[in-house]
Amino acid sequence: MRVWDDKPPKNEKLDFTDPADERGEEVIEKVLTNQGDSMMDKDEGAGQKKKGWFSSMFKSIAGNNVLEKSDLQPALKALKDRLMTKNVAEEIAEKLCESVAASLEGKKLGSFTRISSTVQTAMEEALLRILTPRRSIDILRDVQAAKERGKPYVVVFVGVNGVGKSTNLAKVAYWLLQHNLSVMMAACDTFRSGAVEQLRTHARRLQIPIFEKGYEKDPAVVAKEAIQEATRNKSDVVLVDTAGRMQDNEPLMRALSKLINLNKPDLVLFVGEALVGNDAVDQLNKFNQKLADLSTVPTARLIDGILLTKFDTIDDKVGAALSMVYISGSPVMFVGCGQSYTDLKKLNVKSIVKTLLK
Ligand code: GDP
Repeated sequence: MRVWDDKPPKNEKLDFTDPADERGEEVIEKVLTNQGDSMMDKDEGAGQKKKGWFSSMFKSIAGNNVLEKSDLQPALKALKDRLMTKNVAEEIAEKLCESVAASLEGKKLGSFTRISSTVQTAMEEALLRILTPRRSIDILRDVQAAKERGKPYVVVFVGVNGVGKSTNLAKVAYWLLQHNLSVMMAACDTFRSGAVEQLRTHARRLQIPIFEKGYEKDPAVVAKEAIQEATRNKSDVVLVDTAGRMQDNEPLMRALSKLINLNKPDLVLFVGEALVGNDAVDQLNKFNQKLADLSTVPTARLIDGILLTKFDTIDDKVGAALSMVYISGSPVMFVGCGQSYTDLKKLNVKSIVKTLLK
């Protein structure tokens, strides 16, 4: 019945629309008009106050965006929590995140770069920078240099009680012996009963001389006499054991300060457990603070390096290494990783960083 020209249709039959279909139009109209204000009338960005992962992702996809603190917060919070589960002291995890935020804020995010990976890379770089020693302390080289001056190289081991001072002093002795150096031990823990005997046992096992004067003597004087004896005997190294002391113990800290000022050792090693969390910061801060306050010389000798013990017992909770280095600025020079004399290692900075960020 269709007529394919300009003439109007002859009758109504040509309209095949079902009256029921008109509801469709109604529905469409409702959808179009009742769905809130037109996006045309909104400012770009208005109504997007809550920035969640989606907006961060968008920023990362769009590229060419300047990073703001609020963009970085979710990724940094996640990173801070991860560092704390690895036993990094909270105060330090917080400070690290703040410095990473400061280094990224205002920077342009590259195209197709996710904020979380930018934050992770910046943190990785910061951790590597902190853990890599600024100046190398090469003990073997320094021992040779002292030897050429006709002097023994003197190391003083300090730290709180029970952290593994004497055991690890013996491990260091064993390592030096393997480098054909002559080593002497000085029993300057004249405070805790049994300490001298304990050191004597190590000396006997390792077949090295020990200088001891029993208990209740001034440890500073015992160390001085030990160094004099080592000079006479042409010992290459003197390893000085000291009493374990709490960082708040004023009389014992004074005695340690005296020992260090009087004897001017080549190296002051802080022995600390890898198990400590927040307390690591307090221990090291107070040791350094007391050595500074109680010093009788204008430029106080502080801690030069760290010996981290019981590393074999902590699984992936490697945070103490970071906390200690961060707070003292001193490198981890040895890592104790077991109870036998061979269980002494160097710190593997890359592996620590990898574990911290895993
Ligand atoms: P000090 O009081 O600081 O001299 O501590 P000790 O040298 O007497 O050590 C205390 C305990 O820690 C001893 O049972 C040691 O065998 C143990 N120890 C020391 N170093 C390590 C280590 O690296 N790993 C493990 N698992 N135990 C250690």
